[in-house]
Amino acid sequence: MTVTPEQQAEIEELRSHPHQTLRVVSEGMEKHLYTAIPVLDHGFVRVIDYMGDDAAICQAARVSYGKGTKSVQNDEGLIRYLMRHWHSTPFEMCEVKLHVKLPVFVARQWIRHRTANVNEYSARYSILDREFYMPAPDQINAQSVVNNQGRGDLLSPEDTARVLEMLKGDAARCYDHYQTMIDEDGIGLARELARMNLPANIYTQWYWKVDLHNLLHFLRLRADAHAQFEIRVYADAICKVVADWVPFAYRAFEDYRMGAVTMSSQMMDCLRRMLSGETVTAETSGMSAREWREFQQVLEG
Ligand SMILES: Cc1cc2nc3c(=O)[nH]c(=O)nc-3n(C[C@H](O)[C@H](O)[C@H](O)COP(=O)(O)OP(=O)(O)OC[C@H]3O[C@@H](n4cnc5c(N)ncnc54)[C@H](O)[C@@H]3O)c2cc1C
Repeated sequence: MTVTPEQQAEIEELRSHPHQTLRVVSEGMEKHLYTAIPVLDHGFVRVIDYMGDDAAICQAARVSYGKGTKSVQNDEGLIRYLMRHWHSTPFEMCEVKLHVKLPVFVARQWIRHRTANVNEYSARYSILDREFYMPAPDQINAQSVVNNQGRGDLLSPEDTARVLEMLKGDAARCYDHYQTMIDEDGIGLARELARMNLPANIYTQWYWKVDLHNLLHFLRLRADAHAQFEIRVYADAICKVVADWVPFAYRAFEDYRMGAVTMSSQMMDCLRRMLSGETVTAETSGMSAREWREFQQVLEG
């Protein structure tokens, strides 16, 4: 279950008491405040708080006293210019605080993004819930033979069933032992020790606060096709939130980061030669076989 009925009631209670403020609000973001967006089988992302909007990015870039006198088109143009030219600090003026529930093995990838503030649920202090990520059958693949860091073809239905059986059985057994070890009327082992028995697909939770510049960097890496599916689905959910929060900045991000490519000087040289009519091959490109393949992928789109 993503959120319990009690947690849902708390969310509705929070949403039923609007506050007045002189600060700018983003209407698109207000609709997300506090609500849990389901991700994976038991996870979620929810916006706890945020600061700034598209106008705040422009305000910072212009170092202005108010909203400024420039038109909305000018704001979008300015944001696109800033994004295109890596003038990143105005994007740091917007911040967001998220509550995320995620499997521990996803959290290990996520925490590598150091430019955020994190507070995680304490498994020394509290008892972890019996909730484990179980991949859907269409996410149970063999090891890729072309990419050491990825998945290949789907497993056969029989092997998929065996994998799920093992995952479920091991999780249940580990959690049963965890409970037996921490039982205050039995062994009474400290929670900080008993937790070492729990597998990496158990869910944890944290508050994660980050500015927009570093959030976009996170999304650039984790909403990308090369990222592992289980973190990508969180990044995809956050992308939708950001698109509603700062639509101009998000569109610029899609155009100049997500949809853009970086070309090496060798790639640019090959491209120019191709445009002038020359037939360039892997052998005459001056690139390694791998870079040539990547170049082909860029050209093919
Ligand atoms: C597809 C993929 C595969 C990966 N595979 C592996 C792997 O096999 N093994 C592994 O260990 N990691 C792996 N990573 C993690 C990766 O190396 C980065 O740690 C992670 O993506 C965070 O990126 P970041 O450091 O740019 O982000 P952040 O920590 O948010 O930092 C943002 C930027 O701030 C600057 N910065 C922050 N802290 C420092 C610092 N201490 N010193 C200097 N500059 C700093 C850097 O410019 C950095 O790019 C992988 C990531 C991806 C997306």
